[in-house]
Amino acid sequence: SPALTRAASLIREIPDYPEPGILFRDITPLLADAEALRVTTEALMEPFLGTFDVVAGIEARGFILAGAAAISAGVGLVPIRKAGKLPRPAASVDYALEYGTATIEMHDDLPRGTRMLLIDDVLATGGTLAAGRHLVETLGHTVAGVSVLFEIEGLGGREIVGDLHTVFHS
Ligand code: IMP
Repeated sequence: SPALTRAASLIREIPDYPEPGILFRDITPLLADAEALRVTTEALMEPFLGTFDVVAGIEARGFILAGAAAISAGVGLVPIRKAGKLPRPAASVDYALEYGTATIEMHDDLPRGTRMLLIDDVLATGGTLAAGRHLVETLGHTVAGVSVLFEIEGLGGREIVGDLHTVFHS
C-alpha cells in the first residue's frame, strides 16, 4: 500500500553503527510518524489476528512495537528482557552473538499453552528471535507467530527462526 511504502521510506540507514562495517536500520523516524506507526503495527499483526492471546516484545525496540500491537489487538504484553533485568525470571535462554553470548529472560504469569505473538523491530542473524521462540516453548506456551518490522536478508536469520512474518526487508 502507499502508506506502507511511505513508512518504509522513513527507515534510515546508518553506516558503521554500532561498529565499522554494520549498516544500522534506524526505525525511530517511522515511530515518530503517526500514520507510519499505525500501518506498520497493523501489518505486523495482520496474518495472526485471532490466533494469539498475548504479544511478547523483545528488549528494547520490540517493546515499543509490541505495546502498540497489544493495545490495537486488545491483548496484554509480555516483555522478553536481557539477562538480569527481571526480578523473578521463570526461564532464561542463552544464544550466540557475533562476539560472545547473550541471555534473554521472561516472567511467566500466563496459563500453560498461552498463544504468544513474538515481535521485534529488526531481524539480522535471527539469534535473538530463535532464542525468544525457544524461551516461550520452554515455558510450555505456543508461538502463534514471529513478526518483525524489518528483515535484513542474507544473514540466515529466516532459516533459524522459522515461520517468520516481515513487513519490510532489505
Ligand atoms: P539478531 O539476533 O542478529 O537477529 O539481531 C536482532 C536484534 O538486534 C534485534 O533485537 C534488533 O533490535 C537488533 N538489531 C540488529 N540489527 C539491527 C539494526 O540494523 N537496527 C536495529 N536493530 C538491530
